[in-house]
Amino acid sequence: MTSIRYSIVVPCYNEEGSLPELYRRITEVMSQTEESWELVLVNDGSADRTAEMMRELHAANPQVHIVDFARNFGHQIAVTAGMDYAQGEAVILIDADLQDPPELIWDMIKKWKEGYKVVYAIRAERKGETWFKIWTAKIFYRVIYSITDISIPLDTGDFRLMDRKVVDTMKQMPERHRFIRGMTSWVGFKQTGVEYVREERFAGETHYPFRRMLRFAITAITGFSHMPLQLATYLGFFIATISTLSTPIVIIGRLSGSHSFEGQATTLVMVLFLGGVQLISLGIIGEYLGRIYDEVKGRPMYVVNEAIGFEVKE
Ligand code: UDP
Ligand code: MG
Repeated sequence: MTSIRYSIVVPCYNEEGSLPELYRRITEVMSQTEESWELVLVNDGSADRTAEMMRELHAANPQVHIVDFARNFGHQIAVTAGMDYAQGEAVILIDADLQDPPELIWDMIKKWKEGYKVVYAIRAERKGETWFKIWTAKIFYRVIYSITDISIPLDTGDFRLMDRKVVDTMKQMPERHRFIRGMTSWVGFKQTGVEYVREERFAGETHYPFRRMLRFAITAITGFSHMPLQLATYLGFFIATISTLSTPIVIIGRLSGSHSFEGQATTLVMVLFLGGVQLISLGIIGEYLGRIYDEVKGRPMYVVNEAIGFEVKE
């Protein structure tokens, strides 16, 4: 079918500052392989010169292939499109901002040749990121790990190599709210990790401010766990049990003429507490419902303006 061995997939959103250096580093690494490769650049609706620069790179080197989105669809969708178009036997996902060193691809390929189907990069250290980002990320990975049904390796991002088998399986997972690193774990196969030091961003700024990270965390949790939905049930049982047990105590206390159960403040606090719990439970159901609605609509996941350089694409 295809003769391409490696596909390097890079989602790019306003990355004009990093793109030339990224291209240089990746070609440097990949030209050392004796095997064929392609660089799949996904332009996720950038507002800067990213799209133009990609076309220049393609003109200079036909190994550069481009998927140009009609608008911004988000990082995880851009990665998905890259995987859909990638033709290689092994697909490597890497960020455009050079926080993930392309040189690590070597180690990944080595592991792949040993028979591993997924080789993920583990962040041993993060440079140039705020204390807040490092800690929120740490907590995020540990929460996900403890409440989801699958074992997502701690401190890994999307920087990883995947075998064709894994990529083809993931293409059959049509969910719109995607958490790629969880999906690769879900697929299974022999997996391993290689460690690296996460560098500072080469240029530009992060596109994941706190609000977006929170949405991403909710996607990860709702995508892989029903636990939040069950929370209301557990809490309901707990509160119902306590109130059932305390009913006779209250009745007996009242009949015996004790005054220890008077007072509106306690009642008010309890009512507000329960009101809050109910609203949170509704919100959680709403969160899942909204996601079900998005899936049911069945819209295409992304819209491609132009795909350049690929052999055949139906
Ligand atoms: N990205 C994208 N679409 C978006 C946001 C980000 O394709 O809507 C790309 C971005 O160009 C980069 C990668 O996703 O290559 C990771 O983004 P970023 O570096 O901002 O995230 P961080 O490393 O801070 O988590
Ligand atoms: Mg980054």
